[in-house]
Amino acid sequence: MKKSNQDNKRSAGNSKSEFRSSPAKRIIGIDLGTTNSLLSFVKNGAPRIIPNERGSRTTPSVVCLKKDKVIVGEMARNQAVLNSELTVANVKLDMGTDRRFTINGRHYAPEEISGFILAHLREIAEEYLGGEVDEAVITVPAYFDDNQRQATLRAAAMTGIQVRKLLNEPTAAALTYGMSQGGNSHMLVIDLGGGTLDITLMAYEDKVFRVMGVGGSTAIGGINFDNALIEHILARFAADCPYDLRNDRIAYQQLVIHAEKVKIDLSSAASTALMIPYIAVTDDGPLHLNMEISRTDFNDLSRPVLEEIKRHILETFSQAGLAPEWVDSVIMVGGASRIPAVGELVDEVLCPAGARSDSGPRLKKNINPDEAVARGAGILAGVLNGEIAGVEFHDITAHNLGIEDDKGDFINIIPAASSYPTEVSRLFTTVVDNQPEVIIHIMQDRGSEGGHDFVSLGRFHLTVNNGRQKGEPNIDVTFAIDLNGVLTVSAMDLDTGEGKDISISDL
Ligand code: AMP
Repeated sequence: MKKSNQDNKRSAGNSKSEFRSSPAKRIIGIDLGTTNSLLSFVKNGAPRIIPNERGSRTTPSVVCLKKDKVIVGEMARNQAVLNSELTVANVKLDMGTDRRFTINGRHYAPEEISGFILAHLREIAEEYLGGEVDEAVITVPAYFDDNQRQATLRAAAMTGIQVRKLLNEPTAAALTYGMSQGGNSHMLVIDLGGGTLDITLMAYEDKVFRVMGVGGSTAIGGINFDNALIEHILARFAADCPYDLRNDRIAYQQLVIHAEKVKIDLSSAASTALMIPYIAVTDDGPLHLNMEISRTDFNDLSRPVLEEIKRHILETFSQAGLAPEWVDSVIMVGGASRIPAVGELVDEVLCPAGARSDSGPRLKKNINPDEAVARGAGILAGVLNGEIAGVEFHDITAHNLGIEDDKGDFINIIPAASSYPTEVSRLFTTVVDNQPEVIIHIMQDRGSEGGHDFVSLGRFHLTVNNGRQKGEPNIDVTFAIDLNGVLTVSAMDLDTGEGKDISISDL
């Protein structure tokens, strides 16, 4: 298929009316976490956490499927060791994949397991609020791709929950911070988890929240710091002893566990002792690993990872067309953001040496990191149902979305950083005479300034009426992103009216 030079951008941007609904309608916020989930709602204009049936503010995201009943939460977690073959934990990591969990002879898709968690959370909310709850704002990691988002929506649909918005987790944290501040703020959110870095630039001005830029990487996180430490430890060990721990699976596994512990210790201590007695046994006797590692050493060996993080932060600013001075508040979320060098790096990016002043941005620690995401979901729920009056929220796309043309080139249809909901159409045509069909291959480019990173989201075929010369047919391809950030692609031969309207999850 070939792109015609006629482009047609039908509409872009947000419609304020999308966010209005009857105040009587209860919408809750759900932080559907990997380990724990939290619920929130708005009372008297402020977000509150809904405690579960045990009075706990978090509910483990663990499901146990017994023959006669489904157990979710703390009870499921407590008996996970006894009933490991009936229990699923961390299902969020498998959302959007083909993985199936076989329990009692039945195969469950990840979204079905997630659906059980959502059904339980819904019950907790209904019990607490004393009425039916069938709408929610659910948070998802910013790095979730379309497949993972669709799977989350299917999980909610199975439970009868209508998702009013899938909200990116760092954005939710920024909503919490913005609301707690009251006044205008320009926020930088750094979410550094185990394996992902999400960067969000968000403005809160005159009661309008606007995502200004998103960036990051699904290949940077706490694990990169662990790996750097492991390399350092291996090199020091090898300097004293010819035994290669890398080739000893059990020894190496112990090293992985201890390296993470060293990293965590060095967030609060200036130095820590790594001791693994009897890490291996050789013909010459047992080997012990024993060394002192200082935070200074750790900072030095982490330099390449820190530089990568810095590059992504600067790139996010440059793509958003903003300078670091724009930021007045920094919000750090994710376990690995506790690494002191990460905080120092953010300081360095925002206030280069020489330009520091007391009025410059400071790391904000006055939001409860464990509840900030759930509260943000609650805030948006309150905005959507009118309980938080006069506040608006505008989000943007994280990646380029488009299709592959006949030469294998990527045609960008909805560029990264587009406001949504949005709908963009382009005209394409055939490349040979009597071409019977065109293939619409939907692609996502997660790349950035550094290059492309294409992900195939799916493809479909559209029959084209034969008997026309190449270049004659007018094939309209429309990309629409709804309020949830979910993409629907439709294609139509405008001359014959033949068309297909397919959402990505059906492909
Ligand atoms: P998350 O996905 O947000 O739970 O983050 C998990 C990552 O945070 C893992 O790589 C942990 O090792 C890391 N982490 C947790 N606590 C700390 C800490 N105090 N200092 C450094 N890294 C931490």
